[in-house]
Amino acid sequence: MFHSDSRLAAQALSAGYSAETVLKNLQLDIQAGSITAIIGANGSGKSTLLKTLARKLTPSSGAVMLDGKSISTISKRQVLDEIAFLSQHPAAKSTETVFDFVSKNSVSNSDISRLSPKLKKEVEALLDRCGLTKASELTIGELSGGQRQRTMIAAALVKNPKVLLLDEPTTSLDYAHQLEVINLLSSLKHERNMIILAVIHDLNLAARFADKVLILKNGEILADGEASEVITPSNMAEAFNILARVIEDPVAKTPMVIPIRQLVNQ
Ligand code: ADP
Repeated sequence: MFHSDSRLAAQALSAGYSAETVLKNLQLDIQAGSITAIIGANGSGKSTLLKTLARKLTPSSGAVMLDGKSISTISKRQVLDEIAFLSQHPAAKSTETVFDFVSKNSVSNSDISRLSPKLKKEVEALLDRCGLTKASELTIGELSGGQRQRTMIAAALVKNPKVLLLDEPTTSLDYAHQLEVINLLSSLKHERNMIILAVIHDLNLAARFADKVLILKNGEILADGEASEVITPSNMAEAFNILARVIEDPVAKTPMVIPIRQLVNQ
């Protein structure tokens, strides 16, 4: 039922806004069943990269390729179905129930009166998978931060996308809810063989759960690889302008960043 090996790539990708080129000549190749954490200083282009991968922004040159095809050549509907994008502040009516909010994405025109028994079962299974069965009749306004984020993830998954892009999915959640969201994403990547990219501010969390870490600096890739290869004192200095020690996380054995001080601006 879920996808066989998909591939998301960026080829000489440049993109930005009318006044400014933000992303400069990026090369990426991301395989299915993986989580990539995107890290970098404020303004380094992380959100712009996600928006370009989701075709919310058109590249000024180069291309985003999904399974060998430029996404600019596939229909808008297919892009929406195959590449789910969860923005930092997704819009949701606070009076809508979790069930209705998630179901709405599974039918055309958001008309949930047309939800077939089969789709209803699929939505129920998805809510169950995201730990939302008990919350399904609560309204969005009644949810805790963690439940709300899991509802947004469930809604993004309803079309069974190949790619899930998340902009800061754990920011503003407490530790328990951060882990809840991270554990959900980690099991989904295996179960659904998805390509997951997430902008993460917490470097230690990123190092723990991501298969690959991509560091952006001024719209370019500063480093790309396993956390242990790229989360280094020199990359922390380059990317964040900080002096940092990097030690081993005693539990996960992944790199753990101890920021010491800001470096003098070069
Ligand atoms: P990050 O997510 O790493 O903080 P962004 O991708 O949001 O970085 O921003 C990168 C650059 O693009 C910044 O200089 C920012 O001011 C600019 N930018 C972001 N969004 C817009 C926009 N909608 N219009 C014009 N410039 C933008």
